[in-house]
Amino acid sequence: MGENHQSISAFCRQLPKAELHLHLEGSVEPETLREMAPGLSLEEIRSHYRYEGFEGFLNGFGWVVRRLRGPGDYALAARRLLERLEGENVRYAEIILSAGVVLWKQQEFAPIYDAVREAAAGSRVEVWWILDAIRHFGVEHTRKVAELAAERVDDGVVAFGIGGDEARGPAEWFKEVYAFARGEGLRLTAHAGEAAGPESIRAALEIGAERIGHGIRAAGDPDLMQLLKEREIPLEISISSNVATGVCGRLEEHPVRRLFDAGVPLVLNTDDPAMFHTTLSREYEIAATCFGFTQDELRQLARNSFRHAFRPVSFPEAQ
Ligand SMILES: [Zn+2]
Repeated sequence: MGENHQSISAFCRQLPKAELHLHLEGSVEPETLREMAPGLSLEEIRSHYRYEGFEGFLNGFGWVVRRLRGPGDYALAARRLLERLEGENVRYAEIILSAGVVLWKQQEFAPIYDAVREAAAGSRVEVWWILDAIRHFGVEHTRKVAELAAERVDDGVVAFGIGGDEARGPAEWFKEVYAFARGEGLRLTAHAGEAAGPESIRAALEIGAERIGHGIRAAGDPDLMQLLKEREIPLEISISSNVATGVCGRLEEHPVRRLFDAGVPLVLNTDDPAMFHTTLSREYEIAATCFGFTQDELRQLARNSFRHAFRPVSFPEAQ
């Protein structure tokens, strides 16, 4: 109580945090993209970071990922991202690399993965990778990504996930791919309940997802919230993302508080920080200033971020 804006902002920045839902491709700031493509003006680049609604966001995101031409660009993206994470006291990150997008661009995956892995090796942030498939590209595509992840289970890849259009790539399709990935020692996550309803979250749980990307539509389903609570399945919440893409009409309507109060395990994340003009500290700050999270509650969210990591890592309590 009585905490002013300045102190909340400093508190959020200093709080040791883990990022569990962060797309490398969506973290590329316009300035970094300009380093990759000096022929483009910053103004032109920035115009692709301004968009309306989910389709607009996907177009902007698509434009950005097409600028990542190969291992050098991916490595630069990783270096710049990790510099920023270090600056806001992120200690641990599971970074999503869209292997699905790499395949779609018909680029060779191995050199790109080796480059980002090497770029992350020198960072103070502990980094693990999640390889992500595009679900509406279908089962065969998704299986290829799961195989790329399985080949790297002893080489920095901790999990496998699916993103993309929930309606055009329902989770049921991927039951066998998820079983394969689990058998190979990968942990499992899935985007669900972002644009589609609670049934999409249930379907993701059904195929074995251990965390749910977004999952905000669970807020309309008390039984599902109870299930997530009982099974300790966390939702990877990204407030700014949901508002920017329009899946949440207005900031004040975001169900983060309702989900938290219902006891659903939550972790705050940025999703695509450059595309959504945010940082992880900023997401914590929004929870405080717009949804009344106290410093104790913010600390609990930070503790959750370590607790629900796919690797054993503990919250640095002393800080
Ligand atoms: Zn995401």
